[in-house]
Parts: sequence; structure tokens; C-alpha cells
Amino acid sequence: MTQEQWGQLQKDLLATVGQNSFSNWIEPLKFARIENGVATFHVPTSFMGNYVSQNFGELILHKLKAVVDNVRRVHFQVSANLSARAAPQARGAEPAVSAKPAAAINDDMPGAPLDSRFTFDTFVVGKPNELAHAAARRVAEGGPVSFNPLFLYGGVGLGKTHLMHAIAHELQTKRPDLNVVYLSAEQFMYRFVQALRDRKMMDFKHMFRAVDVLMVDDVQFIAGKDSTQEEFFHTFNALVDGNKQIIISADRAPGEIKDLEDRIKSRLQCGLVVDLHPTDYELRLGILQSKVDQYRLQYPGLVMADGVLEFLSHRISTNVRVLEGALTRLFAFASLVGREITLELTQDCLADVLRASERKITVEEIQRKVADHYNIRLSDMIGPKRVRSYARPRQVAMYLCKQLTSRSLPEIGRRFGGRDHTTVMHGVRRIEELRVQDGQIDEDVEMLRRTLEA
Ligand code: ADP
Ligand code: MG
Repeated sequence: MTQEQWGQLQKDLLATVGQNSFSNWIEPLKFARIENGVATFHVPTSFMGNYVSQNFGELILHKLKAVVDNVRRVHFQVSANLSARAAPQARGAEPAVSAKPAAAINDDMPGAPLDSRFTFDTFVVGKPNELAHAAARRVAEGGPVSFNPLFLYGGVGLGKTHLMHAIAHELQTKRPDLNVVYLSAEQFMYRFVQALRDRKMMDFKHMFRAVDVLMVDDVQFIAGKDSTQEEFFHTFNALVDGNKQIIISADRAPGEIKDLEDRIKSRLQCGLVVDLHPTDYELRLGILQSKVDQYRLQYPGLVMADGVLEFLSHRISTNVRVLEGALTRLFAFASLVGREITLELTQDCLADVLRASERKITVEEIQRKVADHYNIRLSDMIGPKRVRSYARPRQVAMYLCKQLTSRSLPEIGRRFGGRDHTTVMHGVRRIEELRVQDGQIDEDVEMLRRTLEA
């Protein structure tokens, strides 16, 4: 059968099944070939393949027989190329994950790729994270659902994503029969929006309802996004009712997520809520030691002086991601210049990181200082009013937050009354421009920076 004949046949099918079913189920089919009496079509998901096979298989076969001889059977094959377009890269502070195909979890499931480094083996347990770790371990056993959902929360870089991936990896080995799906709340939203746009909501719902273990990372992202929240709520309820395990992470406790519907908050609190505390010295040292063990394999022959790890654990107390980044850079640098990693080399190589973690200027501090300077109230700076007398100081404060803290644009936006990251970006750019054009602004900003850094 030629593609043209298939096109003709599709028209015929459209007349039979109606526009709705046609766009949902028939149109996405791609005719591949007919071989040994078997007509093969590519489908984006196996759910879809099953559905079409059960509901339209006979019909399609019947119509095919009228066009080609000797067709006995139709077969629907999942084709990776047809699967839903990849969701855009998250814009948050997440590092790019190593590309293990999403298919690694389950062929057609709507999950995101897993980072192969994020396993329980590489997760260092200490006081601040022992409860979260224990809860994650329990869920990863894949036994009967004991608490639903498991809600993990904590600041940036404390290991939430690592733990979730670890659960997924573990379940893949222990319970390969389960459909385990991991994705960020942002990806959930993209999927949802895409399904709406492509009029594939049936597919979307079925896909998510067919999951056995659902993990949604950074759920605070859907706050304020009403229709996404709504859909998330339905998915959540359907899975809980089906006694399926749900694991959620967020940067704060359920009750503290602004613009999240109350019914969702209370649902999220129903299971086990555990937080990851900021790291302490021992945990940081432990993490560094385990990383060094890994690096030793990568850079054999590198020598590290005593006290370097202790120094770093002491000095870099922000988040684990920064700590890791520092170590990576240190090893790369030392191997490039072929020198032993001494305290001195460490201080040279990481001068900026060390300085940054030294001052630890907070967003709140910046907001207060800037509000004082411009003589406006803090609530007006953070509030919704857009008049110039508030908007300009607000932009100055955003600019300084970007310059002086390690906060990402979305995080900064959140602390400015839940503004969008694009608003923050715009504000930062505006001040950059003004610093060139307007001597007064430049002076103000410079003065504020100096007092903040003092
Ligand atoms: P979050 O999702 O909470 O922002 P991540 O899970 O992405 O944080 O962790 C940031 C980085 O720090 C990752 O590279 C992760 O492997 C590492 N990390 C965090 N906590 C630990 C830990 N306890 N042991 C080992 N590595 C950790
Ligand atoms: Mg994360």
C-alpha cells in the first residue's frame, strides 16, 4: 500500500469514526509497511497502540482488505520518533541530566530521563537528611503503599531530585513490572498544555492514570497555574484512589506554597511530609569524601593535601551543588596544571566561590536595604503596584539579587511577590541599561552594592 492509498483510506475512516475519534486515534497513526500479510503502523505510545487495536483494529483491517490483497492482521508498533515532542528544558537551576532515554523507565510513559549518578549508593546520609532518606528507601522497596504521598521538601541543592531518581532506579531493578514515572511539575504542565493543544486529553489522562508510581519534582512550580493545578489534582486523586504510590518534592512545606489551592495542600499533607534540612559540617565532609573517591578514578595520580576537604566543608555552607561544583573545578584545575591540591591552590582556584559563600547576602536583606534607600515600604516593593516610584527600586533590588546572591531568576521572582522569571530578567536588563545611561542610578546601585557587601 502506498502512503497515498493510506491517505485515501484515512479519509474513509474519518467518515466512519467521526472527527473526534479520528483526530485522537487514527490521524496519529503512521503507516510503515505491509509484510507477510501484516500491516504495521507506528504509534506514539503503547497505550495508544492498545486502544486503537482494541477499538479500531477490526475496522482498519476491514478497510485495508478492500485496498490490498492478503492482509491478515494489523500491528501497532511504538515508535520513539513519534512520541510526544520533548518538553522544553527546565529553566530552573537543575543541571542538565545525562541523557539516558526516557524509555529507560518505560517505553511510552511520560517520564523525564533519569540521571544515572543519582542512586542510593551515591547518596550520603547524615543527620539533616536521614529521615528523608529512610522514607525514600521505604518507598523504593516497592511493597504495599504505606504513606501516600511521600512529600519531600527542602532548599535548593539538598538532594530532593537525587533521592527521587534513586527511588526510580531502585524500583526499576526491584519491580520492573511497575510503571514508574518521574517528571518535573514543569514538564507535567507542558505535557498537559500540549495535550490540550493537540486535543489529546484522553491520551494524557489515560497515560497518567496508568502509572504505578508517579514522582513529580518541584511541585511549587504549578502554584498559580490554575488549570494545571486542576489537572494535577485529578491525576493525583485518581492514583491515590487506585492505591498507587505518589512522591512529590517541593522547595517548601505544602502549607507554605503560595497560590496552591487549599484542597491540593491538604491532599499533599495526607501522607508523610519530610524535610531535608540544610547540610551540616559532617554531611558536607561526607559528601566531599565520597566525591573524591569517585574523582580518584577519573584523575589517578592526583594528590590532595590534608585539610582541604575540611576547609571546604567549613567554608562552603550553601548547598551541595555548589560544593560539588567547587570540587569538580578544583580537580580539573589541579590536573591541568599538574599540581598537588594544597590549601593554597584551593584558595586560589576557588577564590570567587569562597568569597560568594562568605558574604551570603540574602534576598530579604537586599529588599530591605533598597526599600530604605528609596524610602518606600517593603510591602510596596514586593507588592503588585507598578508605578515608577515602586517599580524602579524593585528592579534595582532584583538586579542586586541577581548579582549578589546565587538565587535563580524564578527564585528571585518568587520572593518578589511571586513574579515571573521573565519579569525579573526584564528588570535586571533594564538596570543594566540604566547603569550606562543614567549616572544617578549607577551611583545608587554601586552604593547599595558596597553597603550590602560590607
Ligand atoms: P535538589 O533537587 O534538592 O535541588 P539535587 O538532588 O539536585 O538537589 O542535588 C544537588 C546536587 O547535590 C546533586 O548533584 C546531588 O547528587 C548532590 N547531593 C545532594 N545531596 C547529596 C547527598 N546527601 N549525597 C550525595 N550527593 C548529594
Ligand atoms: Mg531538584
